Amino acid sequence: MLKANILTFFLFFASLVTAIGSGSIMIENSLYIKAFLLYLLFSCLYYRLRITSKNGSTSVDYGISYSLSIGLFTGPLGLFIFETFYRTIVFFNKKINKTADPNEFTDTFYNIGAFALNSSIAFYLYHYLYPKFQGIPFGFWILMFLLVTVTSMLSDFYLILMFYFLGDIKTRKEAIDFIKSRSVLDMGKLSFTNGLLFLFLQEQKWEMLVSLFILNYLVSRSFVSKSQHIQNKLERDKFEQMAYTDFLTGVFNRAYMDKKMEKLNQTEEYLGIVVADIDKFKQINDNFNHAVGDQVIQHFATTLKSYLLMDDYLFRSGGEEFTMFLRHRHFEQTVALVETILLSLENSTVTVEFKGEAAAIHYTSSFGLYFFKVNETVSMEKGYVYADQLLLQSKQLGRSRLSSSNGTLKKETQRI
Ligand code: GH3
Ligand code: MG
Ligand code: MG
Repeated sequence: MLKANILTFFLFFASLVTAIGSGSIMIENSLYIKAFLLYLLFSCLYYRLRITSKNGSTSVDYGISYSLSIGLFTGPLGLFIFETFYRTIVFFNKKINKTADPNEFTDTFYNIGAFALNSSIAFYLYHYLYPKFQGIPFGFWILMFLLVTVTSMLSDFYLILMFYFLGDIKTRKEAIDFIKSRSVLDMGKLSFTNGLLFLFLQEQKWEMLVSLFILNYLVSRSFVSKSQHIQNKLERDKFEQMAYTDFLTGVFNRAYMDKKMEKLNQTEEYLGIVVADIDKFKQINDNFNHAVGDQVIQHFATTLKSYLLMDDYLFRSGGEEFTMFLRHRHFEQTVALVETILLSLENSTVTVEFKGEAAAIHYTSSFGLYFFKVNETVSMEKGYVYADQLLLQSKQLGRSRLSSSNGTLKKETQRI
């Protein structure tokens, strides 16, 4: 922590000394005030769109910085004054909105120091190198990209040192990964934006300058709101999925079953509602324990699911009771499918973990099937009640059996 603070104050004082050492602001006062106010306004506006990422205990902002162009135009002193005002406003804004980090005060010094020092170095490099680049095609832009590369490397160097002192970066690999996370696209964006802003400043094309600021703001704003929209939708979908999923078995829950019933109620399709309930399940809970009971329920769900096709549905409609909507089959096919499941349960055991050892449990299930054409005479809700009554019948007849009724036939019988 101490070393990190020393680095911060070193950067701040180095930038202060550079600023004072540079003599005076390189442009006349009225011009400076105009540029200063415009940069302050748009930097603050843009600040709200920054994307922040956490690196250990420190958060790093990824957003465009306009420091380079104002630094090239006004010189180290003008830049230092701008950075001090801008970062102080950000500091108080964060304090008021209660989004400030615990180290916000020293971070502010760090930001003023790092940005002012880097762009001051860029200022001197620019004046030294510009005559050499003037002659070559796109020389100005190549120089801009070079300056952005140098300032980015310097800034990464300070950050890595900082993270190293704070313990957030420990190995050389972590440091290299951090450098690799910088994107060339972002550097290109920085070069072109600051290059254009600098040209507009030099020629005092204020409308162009403001237009570029606004364009930059709008593009970023729409990007941020689009990505937020997508993020929100993803979260909503995930939340909805969680709300409709049974935690123990991973199949749909009762709430989703009600929703699906409502949907299917608007159709006129042929459908079999099957209610399945494990026989004498209480004994399993009593003879073993609740955790073993849970494993049996999970096995039951997996077994039922393995027999279903894409368009069928399986819900956990109660504790050890499951409901299936079997679709796109005739009555006989639906009965055959349930009989197959019933037999497979009768002929198998489930291996569970009980008191640290594997134990084999045999269990059966009773089924009630009501087959009908939705809404011809009976709604989904009523169909479910009939299927449940048929399940009860299976239980009363001795369990591990299927009781079924073909609602489409009944209607014809009634007609005769
Ligand atoms: P029947 O053959 O008549 O269905 O007998 P049963 O014992 O299975 O019937 P009952 O519905 O009376 O008992 C079901 C038991 O299931 C009661 C409850 O304690 C237990 N149960 C409900 N939900 C869970 C669960 O999530 N996990 C476990 N382990 N047990 C559950
Ligand atoms: Mg039961
Ligand atoms: Mg039950």
